Amino acid sequence: MKRHIARTGSVLGAKCVSTEVLHVVAGARMDRPRFNRDQEGLMPARKAVALISGGLDSMLAARLMQDQGVHVEGLNFFTGFCVEGHTHAIRKDKRARPLRNNALWSAEQLGIRLHIIDVVDEYKDIVINPRHGYGAHLNPCLDCKGFMVRKAREWMETHGFDFIITGEVLGQRPKSQRRDTFPIVARESGAFDLLLRPLSAKLLPPTRPEREGWVDRERLLALNGRGRKPQIGLAGTFGFNDYAQPAGGCCFLTDENYARRLSDLWQSRGDKRYDLDDIMLLKVGRHLRVSPAFKLIIGREEGENRFLRGYRQRFTHLAATDYEGPLVLVVGEAGEDGLMLAARITARFGQGREAGTVCVLAQVPDGTEREFHVTPLPSSELPPEWYL
Ligand code: SF4
Repeated sequence: MKRHIARTGSVLGAKCVSTEVLHVVAGARMDRPRFNRDQEGLMPARKAVALISGGLDSMLAARLMQDQGVHVEGLNFFTGFCVEGHTHAIRKDKRARPLRNNALWSAEQLGIRLHIIDVVDEYKDIVINPRHGYGAHLNPCLDCKGFMVRKAREWMETHGFDFIITGEVLGQRPKSQRRDTFPIVARESGAFDLLLRPLSAKLLPPTRPEREGWVDRERLLALNGRGRKPQIGLAGTFGFNDYAQPAGGCCFLTDENYARRLSDLWQSRGDKRYDLDDIMLLKVGRHLRVSPAFKLIIGREEGENRFLRGYRQRFTHLAATDYEGPLVLVVGEAGEDGLMLAARITARFGQGREAGTVCVLAQVPDGTEREFHVTPLPSSELPPEWYL
């Protein structure tokens, strides 16, 4: 069997090449039989493409298919909003969590190939103009599912696969995993009855893979609701001892604070647009909307300071020269008074906060430097409404 991997180190713990589509992994189960037994004898195994989020449910769905002799390969879509391994790497309080890409980890556990596809640009339209609206925050779950299944359907057709599986469970998510929304995803993605949800299949109309006997419906499940016990039990049966939280757990769009920052970004620009740097920066540091014209991003610890330092060529940045403290990015046009205020805030969040005067160096992207000798801003002069 062909095993292809170029290994590189990365902060996400990934071990693969960095191209638009990444192929990963090997493992014992790749050597499972490539044949299903039918009434006439042996027939080539059917091929399913699995949406692998990195959560337990998609792992279980894929494993149920493998157990029926189906050849499974995984797809994972990189939207820019699911980068928890990166967050764990730069925050001290998250270091205990695994520094890994959970989709790659899941694929490795399953012993399947994983294709990671960069959809950052295409996905913007889903986030900016969701046809079915947002969930509790800025999560466009129903449109997102339709988009991902559509991409999977296109991939399936291009690569000669037979059907698509997801780890969705009926009733698990209020907006996107309901009896009335499942058909919407199947229809709008163009997958129709080639979309199989193995974890809840017995509660749903039979799909083509079931009707045609590509999979045995009797060996599929009837999970329903938000409880996790059956999945955790099944994980034990399959020997999955280490797995990530449910899929929504990694998506920043479901996070209230993150959604507030994204709304602020759109409001400050006067339209809904973003690039990958914007959405990465939204999850790092304290964000203070000091005026409509600019905001400050303030590193909270060394890992965040290091990350923010990577943006010195794009934004004016400040740091105290005589005390330990944060690196602060100025996003927008601060002007003379705004820069002075930014210097006082920089001093306030550093070790010199009690000092009479702190020297703060400001550098603009062209390399020009200015020194400010400022009194740290007292916390009483930091309005709570500045915090995003
Ligand atoms: S939680 Fe995020 S990734 Fe998951 S369906 Fe919703 S928008 Fe998509």
